[in-house]
Amino acid sequence: MRKPFIAGNWKMFKTTKEALDFAVQFLEIYKPSDVKVAICAPFTQLSALSEAFRGTGIKIGAQNMHFEENGAYTGEISAAMLKEIGVDYCIIGHSERRQYFNETDETVNKKLHKAFEHEILPILCVGEVLEERDAGRAMEVVERQMKAALLGLATEQVELLTVAYEPVWAIGTGRTATPEQADEMCGHIRSIIEELTSEETADKVVIQYGGSVKPDNATELMDMYEIDGALVGGASLKPVDFLAIIDF
Ligand code: PGA
Repeated sequence: MRKPFIAGNWKMFKTTKEALDFAVQFLEIYKPSDVKVAICAPFTQLSALSEAFRGTGIKIGAQNMHFEENGAYTGEISAAMLKEIGVDYCIIGHSERRQYFNETDETVNKKLHKAFEHEILPILCVGEVLEERDAGRAMEVVERQMKAALLGLATEQVELLTVAYEPVWAIGTGRTATPEQADEMCGHIRSIIEELTSEETADKVVIQYGGSVKPDNATELMDMYEIDGALVGGASLKPVDFLAIIDF
């Protein structure tokens, strides 16, 4: 049985001091439950957060990493560097990175391989832009992204994957996909994984929905059969809102 998994994506928000204030306020109200929780923060806050949340069950994630082991890549961060400071997860292929930083299906695939090599659990983001949805191409776009991302991964690695379906038109726009639209695509993603591996493996993969998830729509999304969790941007920045989503 898949456990619900709620991950926060802080994007480029909060200084380390603000992150530590969040940790204190959040831990005052958080009660561990069956719901897995992770916070994906900017690089400079990861050490402090992994200390602050040590022993609480809350996992820490990065939002990007490089696909090479090391080398002359000014400004980049490697998987080994993340692992060393207690990072458990890494978001890979977020649409903002695809859109603004030239992330491609190919680099996403390389990053997934490197993350698994260092025992960092990837949260793979896929999703179509509005024109693609309006043209009836959403399913095909997500299928292309999924197949390219998973190329060459072993079944045991795929089982450990979290996939976040994030329709680009729903990110930060206040416009959420309907629960039915989100569920349909999450089901499609699971069937692609099944085609590439097996039904048993596809059953184990946690699939999140992301895009304007808020306390007041989390329950209806989480109630859907194929949706196992959420990747939460804006609403993960406030302890009370993030907790309300975790307690969906
Ligand atoms: P949002 O962001 O919840 O602010 O729409 C989600 C994401 O980009 O992961």
